[in-house]
Amino acid sequence: MTVPLDPATVIAEFAERVAPYDPVTGVPPVALVGVRTATGEAVFQLSDHVLRAMCRALEAYRDPQDRGTCVQCGGRRLDDNLHCPDCGRLHGILGEVIARHARRVAEEAPHGPAA
Ligand SMILES: [Zn+2]
Repeated sequence: MTVPLDPATVIAEFAERVAPYDPVTGVPPVALVGVRTATGEAVFQLSDHVLRAMCRALEAYRDPQDRGTCVQCGGRRLDDNLHCPDCGRLHGILGEVIARHARRVAEEAPHGPAA
C-alpha cells in the first residue's frame, strides 16, 4: 500500500532542514518552485543553497523498482527475481548458471532416439 504524500509539505520540510546550513544569508531567492496537487498548492522561494540541495537529492534518487537493465533486450522492468518480462532473460547468479547451461546444451551434438 502506498503511503499518502503531501508534496508541498515534503518540499517545505526539505527546505527547512537544509536552509540553516546556507553559508550565505540575506540574498534574494534564485528560484520559485510551485506544486499543485489534489491536496492543495504552494509556491516556494528557494535560495541557491536549497535549490542545489534539492537538485542533488533528485539526482541521487533511485527508484526502489530499479533493478538494472536487461543485458539482452535493454528492458528496465526486471522483477524481484531479476527476470526480464520483456524477453524472458533471467539475471543474477541463477540466471547466469541457466544461461551457461543452455549454451552448453546448444553446443552439444543433437540428441535423439537411437536409430
Ligand atoms: Zn530482456
